[in-house]
Amino acid sequence: MHDHRRLGRELGLFDTDPLMGAGLPYWLPDGAVVRHTLEEYVREAERAAGYRHVYSPVLGKRELYELSGHWDHYRDDMYPPMELGGEQMLLRPSLCPHHALIFRSRTRSHRELPLRMAELGGMYRSERSGVLGGLTRVRAIQLNDAHIFCTPDQAAEEAAGALALISRAYADLGIRASRHRLSLPGGGGKYVAGPALWRRATALLREALDASGVAYEAVEGEAAFYGPKIDVQITDPAGRETTLSTVQIDFHQPERFGLRHTGPDGARHRPVMVHRSVIGSVERAVAHLLEEHGGAFPPWLAPVQLVVLPVGEDQEERAHAVVREATALGLRAEVSGPADGSLGARIRRARLVPYQAVLGAREAADGLLAVRLRDGRRPGVLPAAEFLRRVEQRVRARGTALWEPA
Ligand SMILES: [Zn+2]
Repeated sequence: MHDHRRLGRELGLFDTDPLMGAGLPYWLPDGAVVRHTLEEYVREAERAAGYRHVYSPVLGKRELYELSGHWDHYRDDMYPPMELGGEQMLLRPSLCPHHALIFRSRTRSHRELPLRMAELGGMYRSERSGVLGGLTRVRAIQLNDAHIFCTPDQAAEEAAGALALISRAYADLGIRASRHRLSLPGGGGKYVAGPALWRRATALLREALDASGVAYEAVEGEAAFYGPKIDVQITDPAGRETTLSTVQIDFHQPERFGLRHTGPDGARHRPVMVHRSVIGSVERAVAHLLEEHGGAFPPWLAPVQLVVLPVGEDQEERAHAVVREATALGLRAEVSGPADGSLGARIRRARLVPYQAVLGAREAADGLLAVRLRDGRRPGVLPAAEFLRRVEQRVRARGTALWEPA
C-alpha cells in the first residue's frame, strides 16, 4: 500500500521543515515539475472551456469576510487577524469573496454571461497541528478554483460543463471517482438561512447530475455554509474517502455582495455563482496521484520521462545528444551513464521513468535506441528520431498509456 508521505520523501518531491512550520510543505525540483505540469494542464483545459484567469491577493480586510459570511460561519478554520495600520487583515479562507469583488468592479451586461473566472490561488486554513501530515492536511492550500457568474437559467448547464471537465481530467490523470455525493445541509446553525434558495440550488444541481448521467447519493450535513454542492469523492488505498473536486450553485453570495448585471430588458438582475474545482487543491491532487500510481506518474506528468542509458563511456556523447533532441521536443530527459553503476543497477533505479533507451556501440553508430518501457515491455530497436517523436505524441495526448502500436 502506497503512502504519499513516504513516496514524496523517497522520490524527492516535497518535504517539511519545523522552522517553516507544520502543515507548510515545500516542493523540491522534481515535485515542482509535477505541480507545474498539473497546473498548466488545468489552465489549458479551462482556457479551452471558455474560462478567463485572474490573480487576486491571498489576504483581505476582515470586513470582506464579514460580508461573505466566512467570519460568522467559518471563523474557527481561519487564521487569527493581523493588525496593520489600525485595520485587521486576514489570510483568506477561500477565493470566492475576491472573485465576487472582481465581478462587481465593472458594469456587467447579460452578454458577458456566463462569465467564467478562474484562478489557481493560495488560501489558508488553521488546521490543528495534531492532524497535519504530508500533502493531505496542510495550512496553506493552492486551490484550482473558478466562479461562473450566470443567470439562473444557465446554472445547471454550467454545473454540467464543470462535471464534464472533471471527468476528462480524471481520465487524463488516471484517477477514478469513487462516487458523486450531493451534499445537503444538516441540522445545527452553521448554514445561512433561506430555505427557498437552498431548494432551488439543490434542484439545479440534481438537474446537472441527471443531464451528465452521473449516479449520486444525497447526504445531509456536508453542504458548504452558503449552499449545497456536488462532491466528487476519491478513496485512498487504505479505503479512506475524501473530496477532491466540487461543484456548487450559490444564490447567497451574489445577494451578500449585491451583484448585478443588466438584462436584455435593460433592468438590473442578480446573477448566480457556480463555484467549481476540477482537481481540488494541488496538494491533495498530487498526494492522490502518488498513492494511486505508486510514484509511476502518467508519462505526461512524470518528473523525468526518458532516461538514456549508454552501455559504456564511448556512447556517452551520443547519449547527451539524444537528451538534447528530446529536450528540444519539450520532453524531460536525462543521461544515466556508467559512473552511476552497472547497466542493470541503472535500469532498476529508473524503474519509475516511463521510457528507458539503452545505447550500445551498434545503436550509437546507426542512430538507434534499444527501447524499454517502465512496465517491462520492449518495443525494440528504433531509429532515435522516430522513438522521440512517438514519445512526444504520447505525452501530448496525455492519459496513462505508455505506448501505442505504430
Ligand atoms: Zn467559491
